[in-house]
Amino acid sequence: MTTETRTRGARRERFDPASYETKWRARWEADELYVARDDDPREKRYVLTMYPYPSGDLHVGHWYAATGPDIVARMRRMQGYNVMFPMGFDSFGLPAENAAIDRGIHPAKWTTANIERMRTQFKTMGAGFDWSRELIVSDPGYYRWTQWIFLQFLKAGLAYRAMGAVDWCPKDKVVLAREQVEGADRHCWRCGTPVEKRDLEQWWFRITNYSDELLSFAGLDYPEPIRLMQTNWIGRSVGAEIDFPTEADDVEPIRVFTTRPDTVFGATFMVLAPEHPLVSVLTTEDRRADVDAYVANARRETEIERMSTERPKSGVFIGAYAINPMTSERIPIWIADYVLPGYGTGAIMAVPAHDERDFAFAKQYDLPIRFVVGPASGEPSSSEAFVGHSADEVLIDSGEFSGMPAAEAIPAIISALEERQLGQAAVTYRQRDWLISRQRYWGAPIPIVYCDEHGAVPVPEDQLPVLLPEDVDFAPTGVSPLQSHAEWLATTCPECGGPARRETDTLDTFMDSSWYYLRYCSPNDSSRAWNPEQVAEWMPIELYTGGAEHGVMHLLYFRFFVKALRDLGHLSFDEPTLRLRNQGQILGADHNRMSKSRGNVQAPDELVERYGSDTVRAFLMFIGPWDQGGPWNPSGIEGIHRWLGRVWDVAQPVDAANSTATESEELARALTRVTHTTIEAVTEDYEAFTFNTAVSKLMELTNAIIRERGAGMAGSRAYATAIDTLLVLLAPLVPHIAEELWERRGHEYSVHRQPWPVADPALAAADTIELPVQVDGKLRDRLVVTPDTPAAEIERMALASVHVQRYLAGRTPRRVIQIPGRLVNIVTPDD
Ligand SMILES: [Zn+2]
Ligand SMILES: [Zn+2]
Repeated sequence: MTTETRTRGARRERFDPASYETKWRARWEADELYVARDDDPREKRYVLTMYPYPSGDLHVGHWYAATGPDIVARMRRMQGYNVMFPMGFDSFGLPAENAAIDRGIHPAKWTTANIERMRTQFKTMGAGFDWSRELIVSDPGYYRWTQWIFLQFLKAGLAYRAMGAVDWCPKDKVVLAREQVEGADRHCWRCGTPVEKRDLEQWWFRITNYSDELLSFAGLDYPEPIRLMQTNWIGRSVGAEIDFPTEADDVEPIRVFTTRPDTVFGATFMVLAPEHPLVSVLTTEDRRADVDAYVANARRETEIERMSTERPKSGVFIGAYAINPMTSERIPIWIADYVLPGYGTGAIMAVPAHDERDFAFAKQYDLPIRFVVGPASGEPSSSEAFVGHSADEVLIDSGEFSGMPAAEAIPAIISALEERQLGQAAVTYRQRDWLISRQRYWGAPIPIVYCDEHGAVPVPEDQLPVLLPEDVDFAPTGVSPLQSHAEWLATTCPECGGPARRETDTLDTFMDSSWYYLRYCSPNDSSRAWNPEQVAEWMPIELYTGGAEHGVMHLLYFRFFVKALRDLGHLSFDEPTLRLRNQGQILGADHNRMSKSRGNVQAPDELVERYGSDTVRAFLMFIGPWDQGGPWNPSGIEGIHRWLGRVWDVAQPVDAANSTATESEELARALTRVTHTTIEAVTEDYEAFTFNTAVSKLMELTNAIIRERGAGMAGSRAYATAIDTLLVLLAPLVPHIAEELWERRGHEYSVHRQPWPVADPALAAADTIELPVQVDGKLRDRLVVTPDTPAAEIERMALASVHVQRYLAGRTPRRVIQIPGRLVNIVTPDD
């Protein structure tokens, strides 16, 4: 792909990116152009894109994700900041392990080979990464500190070990965190297999200690979908816990949580989950056979089947009664599979008049339905549950609270329950603690040993890292592969020196990515996880970018880590990043997600070979709004390549002898104006991540320069300034061609060290106006005039327009009406 152009005299200059791209990358690397120095006195800015899994080749999606933040990081450098834009590899975890298993080579070896390859590919992009700070989380020098953080959390009570019913992927043979179970059918986030429940002793992090604080996004510029995902995930609901005493002796009351305590007068029965511990205690002898059969059946069903709103409700009466704490009525206790043991307290007060599921259940079993809330005006329909709730709703049939607005009744009823010691205000969360144990090989070992006498004992910090042994059979069997390594397993108890065995689970790889951004601040410090002074200088991250699919995993975990480490005295800020941006996805040319099976994957390497790196970068940014992505379009990349060819052509130094030095003041002013409006618009677009419109503006500036050359302006100062400005604005987007042309124009190396231009509003201001020209009220043309153009001249111009003449068809207009500065209307004669 080259374009033949003729510039000075007989010398032919080809647009051939291959002739200069590699050369410049080598020069930038040798000159350490992108190395961020801690002692650089300029204001520090930290720009970060999520590091990749080294699971294979770099694809265009990686380029797309990295080019956006690279543009901003490069602009920040030119704006005079000391910028850190590091890169590393998320090298532990299932993708590496599974791929290694498929190929029969050790995960360490496979990972290392991939990192080498991806590093080279990343460098081909010409991204301004600071490779001197590269980190690889599977290096013992890194995971030593991951283990250290685990020990800090353990000391503070933020890490604990407990038995739990956990989600298990039968294909990957591994426990999943709750966030890793997706969709209504509850499938594994990685392989899509429906998950199963298993009871295992596991390690957890108390992320729920921070649920409330994680709900606050004050001062954070996060995309709305991420805020919503996190808010819904945490799922805070405010209401009351209410105790329903039973008639049995020595049995605790049944506790329920409700967000609508104002409907308690309408609770006409109770429903327990079949697994509720009180079921066997309360069931009467005459009901036991039916109850046992129902419980056994419910245990065989999946949560999805049980939650389905489609299927008919089923349940059985257990023979026992509870007392409604407000009405003192006896209400029957049922069990039903639509109440799940893991949600809330595993028991509900059934208010059939105001809950659709309870309503269906009451209809099915002929249980009483009592309306206790309704609109102030009019009666609710009795043929269905009243759940719509209106702003003016009031309580009905609710004793002393009848007639009270629902909003007032909620606190009033909670007070009444508190007086009777049968309830209190309460808040519940959907979020659960973070399960961090993995029964897999390729992760950081959990630094714990078990002693018969002392139980779980933390490995002393000075014995870290607990190295992951290499000679392990890491094939997944369901138990941790480390259990098979007898030599590694046997150790001594740090407390008593007696025989002990090591914990064989490894840490969830999301723990590695919960703190890697801190390590970048002092990546080579071997004496501590991070240097607090450097962290204080660089953090928080000014701009963080990555995929929205990490909304309730990584992007929630890394916020939790900062808050927890702050409370332990290790950090002095509240959030890892102030600004988050999510890239969209590049689809195949067939508008489908790129995948090997569809054969629509576009590899960057062959494109770079054909067009050069700059063209690929600019095209990816031109595909659509960066946060939305779009389909790959092979003809689009040709258009971008031709544009860069025109830039190449027009920016060649002018041979003074061949250029006519026309100095039209008007043309010079027009070009200067376009130059300054482009500076303004491109700066805004780069800031706003609307790179596609920035590319359009840069194309317009290129075209304006080409027009001026055609008008003989190539020797003018405005022309030279326009080209130099174009190159500086292009530098973050297409760094190689900008550098090459900058040098060819005789400027000092490097274009990437030039100050970012600032638009002069006076020069950017339009000094012409556009006047719509109508014929009989219909828009036919537009005139571009200066504000002081005389009316007679405007009329002459309007009548001279070929578009107007078509409609006049040789006739003399009846009238020409002008609204100064607004429009011209030509009225044709009546025929
Ligand atoms: Zn799976
Ligand atoms: Zn011991």
